[in-house]
Amino acid sequence: MAGFPIEVATRIKTLPPYLFAAIDKMKQEALARGVDIINLGIGDPDLPTPTPIIDSLAQAAKNPKHHQYPSYEGMLSFRKAVADWYKRRFNVALDPADEVLTLIGSKEGIGHVHLAFIDPGDIVLVPSPGYPVYPVGTSFCGGVSHIMPLTKANGFLPDLNAIPKDVAKKAKLMWLNSPNNPTSVIMSKDYFKRVVEFAQENQVIVCHDAAYSEIYYDGKRPVSFLEVDGAKDVGVEFHSLSKTYNMTGWRIGFAVGNKNVLAGLGRVKSQLDSGVFEAVQAAGITALGLDDSVTDELRKIYQERRDTLVPGLKKLGLEVDPPPAAFYIWVTVPKGYTSASFTAHLLEKAGIVTTPGNGFGAPGEGYIRMTVCTTKERLAEAVERIKKAGF
Ligand SMILES: *Cc1c(COP(=O)(O)O)cnc(C)c1O
Repeated sequence: MAGFPIEVATRIKTLPPYLFAAIDKMKQEALARGVDIINLGIGDPDLPTPTPIIDSLAQAAKNPKHHQYPSYEGMLSFRKAVADWYKRRFNVALDPADEVLTLIGSKEGIGHVHLAFIDPGDIVLVPSPGYPVYPVGTSFCGGVSHIMPLTKANGFLPDLNAIPKDVAKKAKLMWLNSPNNPTSVIMSKDYFKRVVEFAQENQVIVCHDAAYSEIYYDGKRPVSFLEVDGAKDVGVEFHSLSKTYNMTGWRIGFAVGNKNVLAGLGRVKSQLDSGVFEAVQAAGITALGLDDSVTDELRKIYQERRDTLVPGLKKLGLEVDPPPAAFYIWVTVPKGYTSASFTAHLLEKAGIVTTPGNGFGAPGEGYIRMTVCTTKERLAEAVERIKKAGF
């Protein structure tokens, strides 16, 4: 029998071009040539999940009651552990019954929330450069992203006053991300206050992605959006165990805040997924109950790495600031280069993989992103290699 053309839907055809494809190809070629690649491209912790969390999973996996379908909203005991953690960490009270929703990693909820609230033609306010799931989740629902450019001039914070009045009025949902990927910038409580006013005035749902809230430096802890009065009336916050406990592979996160927003997202989830494996949720309870020494140790390691890489790059004459949080270094490309050409230069001449800033959106042009998800020794070697290669 003859085949027929298998055509993907318009939503797939119209996806933006994958800007990392060229760099992936160059990386594969370099690996094939036997180059000892230093990978500063990945945003994935290299350190193992803490042992008590693994032990907890091993034990919970043996319990047959965890082998059946979990509920899509998550075990009440996990949601209680989230509420307790929130109270301890941010002094924010949450009702585990309807103000906490378990997610199969926060990316799952970040993608799906659009299905609950965005109709074709609806506007979503999207920071750029930023996590690609915000604009892609929007376009999968026929929504339209209005870009909020993050630039040096605005301190890499969305300029709420620069959003045209009619766009603000029409917008249905706004994405924020602090600490930020890729710029590492943190939003202050004052900034969040202005966001709440903006959201009230324009009736916009705020979705704040706080995946990096526990990766911070110099003891300066980022605030939660929900710490601000009225925040729970306008929005939700997405969290993940991925970065805090080196659990990217485990797929567990959560959303907290406005119960109507969570109910909308929950209705989508009840139709599309079947929740997080209960043994993983049991391990998640253990993780959230660990004392601060575990995350203190993690922060100390990242800080040492940051303090190896950033001064090293500065010494070479690159324009870069030490980030206050997250594990990303946002480097201005030197004169004569673009994001793509500097990324290619570092790979070809120094065997270092980085990410071109424009891969996170057009306003990221002129930057590259490096991560500190590799050892201090390798980071020091990366600096040496860049010195030798020149630019
Ligand atoms: C890593 C990351 C997440 C978390 O993803 P999970 O699905 O929870 O693993 C969310 N947002 C941003 C910006 C991230 O970089």
